[in-house]
Amino acid sequence: MAAIKGKNTKPEIAVRSILAKMRIRYQLHRLDLPGKPDIVLPRRRKVIFVHGCFWHVHRCRYGQVKPATNAQFWRNKRQKTRARDRRNRRALSNAGWKVFTVWECWIKKPKHLVTRLSRFLTA
Ligand SMILES: [Zn+2]
Repeated sequence: MAAIKGKNTKPEIAVRSILAKMRIRYQLHRLDLPGKPDIVLPRRRKVIFVHGCFWHVHRCRYGQVKPATNAQFWRNKRQKTRARDRRNRRALSNAGWKVFTVWECWIKKPKHLVTRLSRFLTA
């Protein structure tokens, strides 16, 4: 369960290369927006977060892993992350941004990822 916290993580790069193939221009890590979205499409007013399943508590099996040690510590930490994600999504959508989350586990199913991304982008 690698922590996906840094920039330029493998899932992020996968998403960026899909956008590049679709010839979609994007900006990275806009610090002025709530939650510092990983990818920003300013003209479409859309943002994309690329989230690690464990840290951001995805519903998939990677997100539901319960660490054997320090269970309470991890639970608090992850719940805080999830609450912060929710606040950021709300703040962004109140400001008129469309928000999409790409989960780390989708990277393992590239077709699935492309389908979902293009649905979001063309919506
Ligand atoms: Zn997942």
